[in-house]
Amino acid sequence: MAQVSIVSCPSYDPAVCRQALLDALEPIGGLDFVREGMKVGIKANLVSFMKPEAGATTHPVLLSELTKLLKERGAASVVIGDSPGGLYAAAYVKNVYRATGMHETEAAGAVLNMDFTQKEAENPAGAVAKRFTYTGWLDGCDAIVDFCKLKSHGMMAMSAAAKNMFGVIPGTMKPEYHYKYPNAADFARMIVDLDEYFKPVLSVVDGVVGMDGNGPTMGDAKPMGLLAASRSPHMADLVCAELIGLGRRDVPTLEAAYERKLIPASWQELDVAGDVDSFRVRDFNNIGTKNDVVFFGEMLFGEGINPFKKAFGKIMQKALSSRPGPNRDECVGCAKCAEICPAKAITMRDKLPRIDRGKCIRCFCCQEFCPKGAMKVTRPVIARILNK
Ligand code: SF4
Ligand code: SF4
Repeated sequence: MAQVSIVSCPSYDPAVCRQALLDALEPIGGLDFVREGMKVGIKANLVSFMKPEAGATTHPVLLSELTKLLKERGAASVVIGDSPGGLYAAAYVKNVYRATGMHETEAAGAVLNMDFTQKEAENPAGAVAKRFTYTGWLDGCDAIVDFCKLKSHGMMAMSAAAKNMFGVIPGTMKPEYHYKYPNAADFARMIVDLDEYFKPVLSVVDGVVGMDGNGPTMGDAKPMGLLAASRSPHMADLVCAELIGLGRRDVPTLEAAYERKLIPASWQELDVAGDVDSFRVRDFNNIGTKNDVVFFGEMLFGEGINPFKKAFGKIMQKALSSRPGPNRDECVGCAKCAEICPAKAITMRDKLPRIDRGKCIRCFCCQEFCPKGAMKVTRPVIARILNK
């Protein structure tokens, strides 16, 4: 049995999507986890009020076709849900369902989650998230499917299967988690803790049309024509990162998964069904993250942790890391970024956000939730030169 599969899926035509799902699932064991009468929860990526064609959210046609396949295999019910950024309450989430086209999935037999209870988890096995609050609807599911989107991401470099499970944290609490885990490595460890706690039985990556550039919400829709699937979110991500030109060390969630021995050092050590080379997206526009610092540090001090590198890393972090910055021409002065900033690093002056770099923890929430896409991820000139 393959560990990851990649197949072509050139459009969101229902018949094309159904066949692509069947082709992607077959090499990794199909839907053999489904038992008669089971309730399956699909954790989609419904990050915000985005239309499906924007490329930010899991496409409703794929969700509909997977729902049909699960029901044909014997699932009694299929529930689709997510906690978008913002209020985790019926009125708010209903609007997200409407915008993202989720009502289409009801015709296929899916139920849209309307249970907005919040629960507390004790997680002694976690690396950093020993306790956390989560969306209770997942407790009622016998199996969880992680159906994500392949996107660029300001803080995590890539948003795919592992990052999608951050949506189990209720929307209004997400900034708090950014503040609690301010550096990318710990934030990624927290996400891997969530993945390990909820253990999705299947991860499917919607890369038919993903997002690059100013992702994960305000980037450009990126047609890639592919679907990936795996029993492991981290293995799926290791291959997807390769497809968009990133390595394991560029993506903090992959590094965190590698630390936990959940993935091998490189995708070549995985059994992949599908020709990786033919699916490479050579012009994918990635936005840089901590890899600039890691790369320069390793150039000077070699791989692994040593005291010089640690000290150097702290000094250079500020000088080389990507950072958010408003585009004056696109900013409308709505102050949403200042409201959402977990570090209270943004103040509005003359209707323009000013970022206190000393307070900024580079969580990129301001970039993710700016309604105009005016908050950009910028890379210092020196980082761009060194990275070349
Ligand atoms: S959220 Fe966006 S548009 Fe609104 S003030 Fe901030 S940068 Fe400007
Ligand atoms: S300014 Fe933006 S990136 Fe910095 S802490 Fe605030 S929300 Fe996060």
